Amino acid sequence: MTVFKPDTLAGKVAIVTGGGTGIGRAIALEFAKVGADVVLASRKVETLEKVAGEVRSLGRKGIAVQCDVRERAQVDAMVAKAMAEFGKVDILVNNAAGNFNVPAEDLSPNGWTSVIRIVLDGTWHCSQAVGKAMIAAKTGGVIINITSNTPITGSPGNVHSASGKGGVEAMAHTLALEWARHGIRVMCVAPGQTETEGVRKQLWTNPEADKKYLRAIPLGRYAQPEEIAYACIFTASAAGAYLTGSTMYVDGGATLVSVPASVRVSEVGEQGKAKA
Ligand code: NAP
Repeated sequence: MTVFKPDTLAGKVAIVTGGGTGIGRAIALEFAKVGADVVLASRKVETLEKVAGEVRSLGRKGIAVQCDVRERAQVDAMVAKAMAEFGKVDILVNNAAGNFNVPAEDLSPNGWTSVIRIVLDGTWHCSQAVGKAMIAAKTGGVIINITSNTPITGSPGNVHSASGKGGVEAMAHTLALEWARHGIRVMCVAPGQTETEGVRKQLWTNPEADKKYLRAIPLGRYAQPEEIAYACIFTASAAGAYLTGSTMYVDGGATLVSVPASVRVSEVGEQGKAKA
């Protein structure tokens, strides 16, 4: 079942990093349901193989390629394998990431570097490798970065991840400008809290805080991974042809309420007085 026409991405080839779990898996499967062939790339090849099998059972081609996005040589080899198998790449989804909760003052240099290397370096390695292939093939294409609303809202306990995601958004803005002439669109899809096993283990570790957070989401619930995939399908499809260099928030309105309304109102009040 899909809300899209089954040929929405027919004939397209997509690479999804971190495609073996959570949001990445949902993107791979929803892409396959609308006609795309999928290359799944991450470190745990056995997890990827399962999803590649699910893609194939939906009638599309699915291949698993072991790749640590921090390592440029592995990324180049993964993109070369995709090109050898399919002859082109139309869509790259930079979804791989790492995150954990830690107060900023306690974050070790190694903790900072390990997250930044996956989120920022990894996105750069994949974007440049795939961008070069798209430019050489003169096919154009779409790069979608799965970011977060944290560069806007802040995210206490996740300074490494929020900084990495903010860097990815800045990268997307520049690449959108540089590569528009090659027909390459570069977008960010920013999920709010989304129900995945990864986030449950690594981030939702304080039940009281989690309850408060849930109550604060205007739509009153967390996202399902498929809802992030739908935003990616729209972005990658012909319907998204005029989208580049921006961020689509899929967060149930959470970004809007990150600053308590009372604070906003009092700030606006003070500015109003100053002007009067
Ligand atoms: P997840 O299930 O933990 O997925 C992370 C994926 O990244 C895994 O499949 C992992 O695969 C891969 N990965 C990690 N390090 C890698 C590396 N060095 N090289 C290649 N792949 C690597 O988490 P998720 O919740 O689905 O999150 C997916 C994306 O959504 C992330 O970008 C995350 O920041 C973003 N996001 C999620 C939420 C949420 O609430 N869930 C909210 C905002 C943004 P391997 O272990 O096999 O390498």
